[in-house]
Amino acid sequence: MEPKRKTIFLDRDGTINVDTGAVHDIGDWAFTEGAVEALGILQQAGYALAVVTNQAALADGRTSEEKVGAIHERMLHDLERVGVRIDSIAYCPHAADAGCLCRKPRPGLLDTIEDALGSIDRKGSWMIGDKESDVGFGRNIGVQTSLIRSRYWDSDTLTEKPDRIVDSLLEFARFISPPS
Ligand SMILES: [Mg+2]
Ligand SMILES: [Zn+2]
Repeated sequence: MEPKRKTIFLDRDGTINVDTGAVHDIGDWAFTEGAVEALGILQQAGYALAVVTNQAALADGRTSEEKVGAIHERMLHDLERVGVRIDSIAYCPHAADAGCLCRKPRPGLLDTIEDALGSIDRKGSWMIGDKESDVGFGRNIGVQTSLIRSRYWDSDTLTEKPDRIVDSLLEFARFISPPS
């Protein structure tokens, strides 16, 4: 039997790349500061890397499968050049009110990731993102959770308590794998 893989589940917009509010075209794509280094650290530490992203803009035509695909190609290509591999990408294409099972915080995207990677070592895995729905997703699939400080939440109204709050993906990576 294949060993279960420790995995870092990563939100996309606001975690890996700058969240401009509308990341629909290649021109909208820019890594957050330190994100490329962070992904390298996490991969070196032995984790599979899995992106899980809500892309409701697909549901109302603000973007298309082709554009989303082009952005992901760009992300994978830029990372490949520095030796980093994203192992799997899963996205929810449905509207926020569609009631689907795959929009975070609902857990459906895990199925896509496990189809690609095999079963996940949940206790040894993490979800990181910049919204409470990311923490909720992590909780719903039984992994540890980290929340990046962002304009989308404040500590007074936070109902999903993450295991760790950080300023960036890089800070999280250095927590998982401290520099020696
Ligand atoms: Mg986000
Ligand atoms: Zn969905």
